[in-house]
Amino acid sequence: MKLILEIDGSNPYGKGIISRMKGKILFRLLGILVPLALFSCTQKDSNSNTAKGDKPRVVATSTIIADLAQEVAGDEIQLSGILKPGTDPHVYEPVPADSRVLEEADLILYNGYNLEPGLIKLMNASGGKAQKLAVGEAVKSLQLEKGKNEIVPDPHVWGSAENALTMTNVIRDALIKQSPEDREKFTQKASQLTNELKQLHSWINQQIQTIPTDKRKLVTTHDAFQYYGRAYGIAIAGTLIGISTEEQPSAQTVQRLVESIKKIGVSAIFAETTINPALIKTVAQEAGVKLAPNQLYSDSIGAKGSPGDSYIKMMEANTRTIVEALGGKYTPFQLKK
Ligand SMILES: [Zn+2]
Repeated sequence: MKLILEIDGSNPYGKGIISRMKGKILFRLLGILVPLALFSCTQKDSNSNTAKGDKPRVVATSTIIADLAQEVAGDEIQLSGILKPGTDPHVYEPVPADSRVLEEADLILYNGYNLEPGLIKLMNASGGKAQKLAVGEAVKSLQLEKGKNEIVPDPHVWGSAENALTMTNVIRDALIKQSPEDREKFTQKASQLTNELKQLHSWINQQIQTIPTDKRKLVTTHDAFQYYGRAYGIAIAGTLIGISTEEQPSAQTVQRLVESIKKIGVSAIFAETTINPALIKTVAQEAGVKLAPNQLYSDSIGAKGSPGDSYIKMMEANTRTIVEALGGKYTPFQLKK
């Protein structure tokens, strides 16, 4: 507009020319402004999430968080899970498609406490406007030793179903923020899930108590069951690898574990679905103990159709595997509605 006034003020020509010039400039300005206005309208629509068929794009890093989010959100979100069932989050190296999906997200739900270092790094480097929520960090962490002098938070918080309940509630709140009109639906579904988690929690407690007291000792491949152990009263008696699977156990570590298994006298030790079982098999052979026939779902739910293909089913399957291998008496988990 300023440009037009200046031309008007220094008018060396007749009125007609100025009018035509004004017209041209206005026309050009309109040519810029109209598409801009239209563009900003479309932008606004795609951000509001209220338009039909325009659901919030939610990205979950871990399969456990994806499962909880899906339970709470139902069909009201477009959910992309980055990690696939059976993938180890500690050592996962992102691919180009991951950075695209993170950049286009409205909400990123990740575990945090450095469970998925590759994805957290990529998420922090990527652009985009997404709200980022460290779902696992809603739970107060255990502090564990990593190596000799380092104390780090233990990321495997979902090991207690009560912690999964906390995670469910923060997922619900983040979803409501994305899509306030679905508040009632999310609240209702989250409350149904937390009810199931409470039942799961007391069922696991009862199941572990069927194991003879002196046999309530867990030896696993990596240190992913501290929260489980504390919540349900089973001691973590040894692990081959620490809380991250990045480290490779040395020959001495393997030997030390073999010796300590012989000393504490556990009846079985456990392989895990996200880690190559070769080394833990060797440990079992050398220590002369049984390797439990089923692997534990440690850092991921199972593939569709497997006994652990949801968070609740993975906890149920793990408990069954532990109880049966350590001499307890397993009774199936039955939900009361
Ligand atoms: Zn882990």
